[in-house]
Amino acid sequence: MPPIPTAEQIKLSKALDVLRERGALSDDTCPECRHHDWHVDFVAIAAMPLSAIESQAPYAPPGAVNLFFSVRLGSTTGYIPALTLTCTTCGYTKIFNLNKIGLAG
Ligand SMILES: [Zn+2]
Repeated sequence: MPPIPTAEQIKLSKALDVLRERGALSDDTCPECRHHDWHVDFVAIAAMPLSAIESQAPYAPPGAVNLFFSVRLGSTTGYIPALTLTCTTCGYTKIFNLNKIGLAG
């Protein structure tokens, strides 16, 4: 009798199914080393919202702007729930935001 999958294994399997339904993961070849073995994990990525500020670039043609990013005052940190696929050969990592595929929480 096969082992009973854990709740996490079931959720990992569901997440991979959702990604495949949406056209992701159609090729399991690592784009860096060409191997095919991946480790799959759920992770929380620390995140802090940034504000973009446009500034006229000095000595630049009219209309040219620089974009600067800064931490918003009073902002709180949070996390992005994600699914990562890491190549077991070279460490290349793909990250999928679980909020965007309806599997957060
Ligand atoms: Zn690789």
